[in-house]
Amino acid sequence: MGSSLAWHLAALGSTEVTVIDFDLEGTLSSSELNAGGVRATFQQPLNIQASKVSIDFFSKHREEFGYRDCGYLWLVSKDAQEGFRKAMQVQLAEGWEVQDWDLGQLRKKAPFIDKTDDLVGACFAPKDGLINPNLLKNYYRARAREKGVRFLDRTQLVGAEYQASSKGWKLKFRTFPKVLSGAFKEEVLTSSPNQAIGQVGAITEFTAKRVVNAAGAWAKQVAKILGYDCPSVAVRRHVCVFDSRDVDLSPYGMTVDPSGVYFHPEASNGMAGIASPDDPEGYSFQYPGEDFFTEKIWPALYERSSGFEKLKHLTGWAGLYENSPDHSAIIGEVQGVGILPGSLYDCHSFSGHGVMHSYSVGLGLAEKMAKGKYLTLDLQPFSRDRFLSGNLIPEGAVI
Ligand SMILES: Cc1cc2nc3c(=O)[nH]c(=O)nc-3n(C[C@H](O)[C@H](O)[C@H](O)COP(=O)(O)OP(=O)(O)OC[C@H]3O[C@@H](n4cnc5c(N)ncnc54)[C@H](O)[C@@H]3O)c2cc1C
Repeated sequence: MGSSLAWHLAALGSTEVTVIDFDLEGTLSSSELNAGGVRATFQQPLNIQASKVSIDFFSKHREEFGYRDCGYLWLVSKDAQEGFRKAMQVQLAEGWEVQDWDLGQLRKKAPFIDKTDDLVGACFAPKDGLINPNLLKNYYRARAREKGVRFLDRTQLVGAEYQASSKGWKLKFRTFPKVLSGAFKEEVLTSSPNQAIGQVGAITEFTAKRVVNAAGAWAKQVAKILGYDCPSVAVRRHVCVFDSRDVDLSPYGMTVDPSGVYFHPEASNGMAGIASPDDPEGYSFQYPGEDFFTEKIWPALYERSSGFEKLKHLTGWAGLYENSPDHSAIIGEVQGVGILPGSLYDCHSFSGHGVMHSYSVGLGLAEKMAKGKYLTLDLQPFSRDRFLSGNLIPEGAVI
């Protein structure tokens, strides 16, 4: 998010834009550990619009981002049918193609799904798809650098003071040596930024007129440092890669099962995940290993296809979702915390769909910051003020 926003800000003429990150390589950042799905099959019009603008951009750079419009196939159980029909009406009204398949169509188009007793059909969105999030992130960064954006690595925000006299921020960072082990990165990113830790280098200070909190799952910590409250929580999520042996998944895109398990092709294998209610809130990257696959993923796949009766867990990992209370992002100016207008912005809490919103939101927020108003998309409803006014954007199509 930070890289996309910085590129767009610089492209709109902002100077002296700096992206500051504890770990730009992003070994543990969500932009590194996600499933690469991009879709506009949401329930809320604004979430659909934010994805549409992004996917339109991705489709113009297919090769550069490894974008494939291979579709999202949402399998529909009887009790979820009405909800899907409603959501499809909203998606169609927003100009996003979705097809309402009955069981016969589902069997024809995805014959490997041969255990369908609990299903009434499927919702298929042909323009949803998959992307390589690393290529996307590097694209944003390359474009940003071309426009003069500075990137500061191994630099962690630990303190901030708003100085009314100079109408700006004095920010305090701790810096780290060039080579950091994975274990050390994990130690830093699972503890509080003020906790004493080994390997810390110099403390540096910067001044800035405007600050954007784009710290993903760490937005709550960063908000606290900047003197305001963020209502979101970090939640651990796992994904695994499996050898799908008897089923060639390569012709398909993302499939979402009513159980909550989602899967898609990953090179010659399959990748699967689930937003399990048992996943703990907080900062943890512990992956339970094969047990996750055998207990949470395989039973649902086994019940869906006879081709999934023989599968083999290969690997997996844990990353962090950044869940807001209504599962829509928090974007826009932070006001009412004793600072001058235009000094602080939110751009976080994407609740598991930040890759697909990264282009549109980076562009939209940059327009607001550089031009004074939202132009491409009106992102105002995503403002944190909604948690006070009660104008929530409850998004139910989350996985
Ligand atoms: C398992 C999993 C599957 C997912 N699947 C999808 C998917 O299919 N499609 C999709 O669109 N999204 C998906 N997501 C969500 C998506 O990955 C995120 O919404 C998105 O990457 C968020 O980007 P970000 O830039 O806000 O956060 P991040 O990429 O996490 O970046 C935040 C950065 O802040 C830095 N930081 C934190 N604290 C500080 C500090 N004090 N000082 C300096 N730097 C700091 C961190 O080092 C980190 O690099 C998934 C996420 C996970 C975990």
